Amino acid sequence: MSSNEVENLIIIGGGPAGYTAALYAARAELNPLVFEGFEWGGQLQNTTEVENYPGFPEGIMGPEMMTRFREQAERFGTRFVNDDVDRVELTDGGIQKVFLGDEEYRAKAVILAMGAEPKRLGIPGEMELMGRGVSTCGVCDGAFFKDKETMVIGGGDSAIEDAVFVSKFASNLELVHRRDEFRASKIMQERAAETDNIEFKTPYVPEEFIAGDDGSLEKVRLRRSDNGQAEDVAVDGAFIAIGHIPRSEIVTGQIDTDEEGYVEVDPASTATNLGGVFAVGDLVDHTYRQAVTAAGSGCQGALDAEWYLRDSDL
Ligand code: NAP
Repeated sequence: MSSNEVENLIIIGGGPAGYTAALYAARAELNPLVFEGFEWGGQLQNTTEVENYPGFPEGIMGPEMMTRFREQAERFGTRFVNDDVDRVELTDGGIQKVFLGDEEYRAKAVILAMGAEPKRLGIPGEMELMGRGVSTCGVCDGAFFKDKETMVIGGGDSAIEDAVFVSKFASNLELVHRRDEFRASKIMQERAAETDNIEFKTPYVPEEFIAGDDGSLEKVRLRRSDNGQAEDVAVDGAFIAIGHIPRSEIVTGQIDTDEEGYVEVDPASTATNLGGVFAVGDLVDHTYRQAVTAAGSGCQGALDAEWYLRDSDL
């Protein structure tokens, strides 16, 4: 691919936001170039069945859904680079530059759609048992634990929201937090306290996820934060809800981000503080982080980029 040309639009990110932006931009005949990342597909690539994306009443596997997103963008002429961007040089209203090693790509507009990743505990068994009883998304996977023993780890609004959601299916749920005080809003805490099958378990730090003979999660080893005592709790499902990290590292220092690293956009659009640079999906979203909201945001980004290019002198 020639790097001497100036592209209309480069999209960085191969999740629901990036592919939807590509679909709309391709249909607007912007001939977008998507840097989808080596592990394209985003968080849905690590998800099993998606049951909450409208239009799929029978559900769809996460990787299959992302393949379809990608194919739909490709159908209208989107080009893909299956590699991770190393760095960018962003300007306010000028030509934007994207680098793969020393290879330089230039564009009149860029849509940033690098997403976010759930924070991990970094303890033994966590990655090995992901999808086999350990999950980072209660809203996605809670329904698979009907009448099962479950646990949610975390003390913020996400943890409580996951706990309340998962408890609708589970027989019992332990809400494990490392401190006695919860960070979550009072109203959310009350909601959890009022739910019969949710039990608060504090102050405990998870130390290890342990598999049973069938290779799926059997118990979680906890340690009391105050007296150091260890305890094993038998559960079928454990949900980690300790926050997310936006994948904004390649733009940090070049664009306005908030204290947590989320890219800041004009509340009414996807415009960043730099002309011609737009940001969409989980990279900007503290709150919703759903495939459907990311896709909607990607659509907005493509329309914003289209209008920017129409009015630009570049
Ligand atoms: P958060 O507010 O940052 O809370 C993260 C929680 O995880 C904290 O309680 C933290 O403990 C704990 N934690 C972090 N690292 C840990 C570790 N290594 N081991 C054990 N525990 C750990 O994140 P969030 O709950 O995802 O919420 C993010 C934002 O979205 C917030 O602004 C929240 O209000 C918003 N949100 C709102 C709603 C709603 O209103 N319906 C729903 C979801 C999210 P410490 O407290 O000890 O630091």
